Amino acid sequence: MKFSRIGQAALVGSGLLLVLGSGCNAGGNAGSPPAVPAPATPSFQADRAFNDLKTQVDFGVRVPGTESHRKTRDWLLGQFKQTTDRAFLQDFERTFGSLRLPMSNIVAEINPNAAKQVLLCAHWDTRPTADLEINQAKREQPIPGANDGASGVAVLLELARNFKQKRPDVGVQIVLFDGEDYGPGGDRMFLGSRHYAQNPALPKPGYAILVDMVGDKGLEIFREGNSESNAPEINDKVWKAARELGIAQFKDSVRHTINDDHIPLQAAGWKAIDVIDFDYAPWHTLDDTVDKCSPASLKAVGDVLARVVYAEAP
Ligand SMILES: [Zn+2]
Repeated sequence: MKFSRIGQAALVGSGLLLVLGSGCNAGGNAGSPPAVPAPATPSFQADRAFNDLKTQVDFGVRVPGTESHRKTRDWLLGQFKQTTDRAFLQDFERTFGSLRLPMSNIVAEINPNAAKQVLLCAHWDTRPTADLEINQAKREQPIPGANDGASGVAVLLELARNFKQKRPDVGVQIVLFDGEDYGPGGDRMFLGSRHYAQNPALPKPGYAILVDMVGDKGLEIFREGNSESNAPEINDKVWKAARELGIAQFKDSVRHTINDDHIPLQAAGWKAIDVIDFDYAPWHTLDDTVDKCSPASLKAVGDVLARVVYAEAP
C-alpha cells in the first residue's frame, strides 16, 4: 500500500522488553484477606497470533475475486463469531471497466451497547501484483502478504480472544477492510475503508486505530505523519501505553507520512491513526513471507493496543 513515503531507514533489530499486565494486588497486611483482585489483563498469546498469521498465508492470496479470498473471509468471520458479541460481513462491489471486484468488510463488535466505542481495524486483502520486485516477470504475481495484510489481522484476532476473556469497559468495534491493496494505483486502493467510511455499519466510534504491517521481525513503529496531524492525542495514548509497558519497538517520533486505510476515515470526519512499520524491505514483493515476521512483534503491538483499550473508562 502507501504511495507517499518520506525517507528511508535501515532495519534495526530491537530488543523486546515485555511487562505483562499485572493482576496481582499484593495485599501487604498479613492476616487480613486481600482485597478482591482486579481480574488479570489476559495475556496476548504471541504464538497463537502467529499461527493466525500463518493460517491466512496458507489459505493463499487474499485477492478479491479468488477462491482463497472467499475461504479466508469465511474463516475470519467464523473466528470472530466465536470471540465477539456479533460478527457479520459488509458485502460491496466495485467495478472498473470490465473488472468486477466482489469484496467484504468483516465487522465484529464487543459490548455494542456501551456509550463509548473504539474502532480497531486492519486490511485483510493482499496485493495482486508484486510491483516492487526487481525481476520484471515476478511483478505480475500476487504477494503472499504475511506482513502486508496478515499481521494486522492476526493481532486483532488475538485481541478479540483477550476481550472475550476479560471485557473492556468500553465497546470495541473491529473492522477488517477489504480491497486496501488492489491497485496498482490509488484509485483502486483503500476500497473497503472508503466504502465503510461512507456506509458505517456501526455507530461512529470515538476514535479508530488502524494496524498495518506490524509483523516485521525487526519491528520499529514510529508515529505516522497523517495520524499526528489528525489525531495527535490518540497517538499520545498509544505511545504512552508503549512507554508504560516498556515496549521498545515503539519509537516516539514521526518518520513516514503514509496513505492507508485511516485516510478515508479521517476524510469522513473521524479521528483515526495508523500504527505501521513502513520500513520493510520485502514490501510488495514475493518475499513478504512468514519467515520475515515474528510472534514477538505481533505481541508488542497487541500488548500496547490492549493497554489502550483496557485503560478507557466507560
Ligand atoms: Zn500493501
